[in-house]
Amino acid sequence: MQGDRTVRIVLRTLSEFHVGAGAARGASHIDSAFYRLRDANGREKLVVPGSTIKGAFRAHFEEKIREKVLGRPNVAQEAYNILRKAVKDVGMDLGLGNQLLNHFDYMARRETSLRQIGEKPWENAPYAYLPLVCDPLSQFHCNHPLSVLDFGEDRSETIRFIASVVLLRRVPTIKDRHDQHEKKEGDGAMWRPPYCPACLLFGGAGNPSPLIFSHLETDKAATGLQTRVSIDRLRGAAAPARLFTAEYVSPGATFEGHVELAEHTAALEALGLDRCWASVLRELANNIKQLGRFKSVGYGLVKVEVEVPHDCPTQGAVEQAYKQYIDLVKRTYESGNVKNALREMMKHAFERRGENRDVDSIVDTLVKNARATLGLIQ
Ligand SMILES: [Zn+2]
Repeated sequence: MQGDRTVRIVLRTLSEFHVGAGAARGASHIDSAFYRLRDANGREKLVVPGSTIKGAFRAHFEEKIREKVLGRPNVAQEAYNILRKAVKDVGMDLGLGNQLLNHFDYMARRETSLRQIGEKPWENAPYAYLPLVCDPLSQFHCNHPLSVLDFGEDRSETIRFIASVVLLRRVPTIKDRHDQHEKKEGDGAMWRPPYCPACLLFGGAGNPSPLIFSHLETDKAATGLQTRVSIDRLRGAAAPARLFTAEYVSPGATFEGHVELAEHTAALEALGLDRCWASVLRELANNIKQLGRFKSVGYGLVKVEVEVPHDCPTQGAVEQAYKQYIDLVKRTYESGNVKNALREMMKHAFERRGENRDVDSIVDTLVKNARATLGLIQ
C-alpha cells in the first residue's frame, strides 16, 4: 500500500504474452513489437498500457453485473419493449408524433444489421438493452450528464437519456460533488445523474474514470519472436504469402504498476465504494485469465493480483456493490424525489432554450417505465 488512495497491481505471465505496439519501431523484421515506453532515464521498458488493463477490469465488471440480470428469462426483450414504449410516449409528450420512435428504430437497426425493426433487435444486441449497465459500444450508451440540456432537441441524446433512466442505469437524485464548484448563484443548480456503475468506475463518454491505472512495467522479462501465418478472419483461411512476426514476453515475467483513486465522488459513495474500491478490483482480477493478443493459440495466460488495504474485504465486494446499487435504485424510484429531480432537469433544459413547457407528463412517463424495469429485475 502506498497510502489510502493507491494500490499495487501485479501481473504474472503464465504463457507467451503479446501486447502490441502497433507499427514496429527499429527492428524492421518485427511486424508487431511488444509495447514499450521510455523511462525518465531514456531506457526502454516493456509495458502493459494502463488502458489495456483497465479495459479488462471493465469488461469483467460489466459481465458480473449482466450475469445478475441475464439469468431472468427474456429480460433483454422485455427491457427493449419497455424502452421503446417509453421513447414512443415521450415523443408524443414532446409533440414530435412518431419522429422520436422512428429515430429510435433507426438507432436500433444501426446497432445490428437489421433491415426491419421486427427482426428482434434484442436478440442481435442484447447488451444494448440490458438494465443497470450500458454497453459502451452501443448506440444506447451512457451520455454525459450535461447532455440532459439537449433533451427534446437532439434526438439521439434525448433517446440516450431516456434509455439511461428507464433502464435504471443512472440515479437521477444524485447531485455529484462536481456541482458544488460549478454552481453559480441563480444559474439553476442542476441535478447531475451520474453514469451507470461501469462507466462510473472505469470511465465512459466524457467521464474521466476516478480510478487511474498506471502502465504495468517490468524490469527483466525474456522476450522472443514468433512468426505466424496471418489469418484472414473473414474467410477463415490463411491469407496467401502473409507471414507475420510478433515479439512476445515469455512465461514467468512480472509486470507491476498501481491504481490510484483520483477523486471521491458522491456516486462512488452511493455504490459504497468510496473507501474499499480496491476490493472490487481484487475480485475482478481473479477473473482476468487471459490478456493481450493471440489468445486463441494460448497466448496471454496471466495471473493478476491487486493489493487491498488490510481492513477491506477480499471477496464479495462486487456482490455488495451490486446490492447497494439495487437498493439505491429501488429507494430512488419508489420515492417522489426522483420526479422532483427529473422535473428540475427537464425544466432547466427547456428554459435554457427559452421554452416554457409542462414537463410533468414526460417525467411521469420516464418514472412509470423505470418502475416497470425495476419489476423486471427484482
Ligand atoms: Zn455506462
